[in-house]
Amino acid sequence: MNNRPYFIFSMDVEPDDQWNLSNNAFGLKNIDSLLRFKNLTNKHNIKPVYFIEYQVAKRSSFFEIFKNDIINNKCEIGLHMHIWSNPPYSDLCLKKNTRAFQTEIDNELFKEKFLNLKNVIKDKIAVDLISFRAGRWAINFDQLHILETNGIKVDSSITPGIDWSNTFGATNIGGPNYLECPTTPYFLDLSDLRKKGGVPILECPVTIVEKKDIHNFYKLINIIPLSKIKKIANNKVWCRFYPKTKAKLLQSMGDFVNKNNLPYMHFMIHSSELSENTNPLYKTQNDINNLYNKFEQLFSWINKNQMQSITLADFYYKLSSNKGLY
Ligand SMILES: [Zn+2]
Repeated sequence: MNNRPYFIFSMDVEPDDQWNLSNNAFGLKNIDSLLRFKNLTNKHNIKPVYFIEYQVAKRSSFFEIFKNDIINNKCEIGLHMHIWSNPPYSDLCLKKNTRAFQTEIDNELFKEKFLNLKNVIKDKIAVDLISFRAGRWAINFDQLHILETNGIKVDSSITPGIDWSNTFGATNIGGPNYLECPTTPYFLDLSDLRKKGGVPILECPVTIVEKKDIHNFYKLINIIPLSKIKKIANNKVWCRFYPKTKAKLLQSMGDFVNKNNLPYMHFMIHSSELSENTNPLYKTQNDINNLYNKFEQLFSWINKNQMQSITLADFYYKLSSNKGLY
């Protein structure tokens, strides 16, 4: 590994506005807008990880837009599971006005969904699939074990320091509690998600830091988050853009990551946040242009600071061949 932190950029590529719980149309308008994003990442030599949801793989233009990038190793394709739009379905998956957590379904159904997702992507393009992210960030031991025995080597579902147990899916059982999970990438111990272990599945969480760790936090940010996010993530800053997040905030996070010798800074976004009116945050083309300006600033800064952009697959293979480096 070099001695600068890597930069990982991951995107959940999914249908329009999945935050709207009554929206079961699974529109794919946002996918066509990704050509602009592809051009931007190529310009800055950023290599995103695209976590693909079932409907996107099955019905959208995604693989036409990204075919060359995939073939030329300019991005990685991973799997993203939304159990409400990924067959086969139980009643719970289809319950109206809610989005069930993946952790609410049984192992057999999870495995069938996973294989369907994998196959629908494989039908479109011949590509190695080794990285996975759960919808709504919910995953458990059994599911990680199923993933591991079916070729997955990297998971990015755990959100360190975040407790989802007061957030509900289709039953009255809350989401997972990741309060004590490590904030840096670690090989999982499947008996306890909080522990580093020896199972060959690498957890690569999105970067989430304490507000106090970011210099001048209150000068750099003026987040007006969704009320839920505010409640869940009160003392945390995610490596994400919200409408009022300044690019400088994430540069400050990058400084923190570098100063503390962390292996990477990991940014995430949903594809539906990249076009207007396909998400709750950005309503106009002007909003989207502002977001793109922030990407320009962030990516330029990443390059200027020699933080190499890397896919999760490449990060995994580098780490596996350099065990013990951290
Ligand atoms: Zn999702």
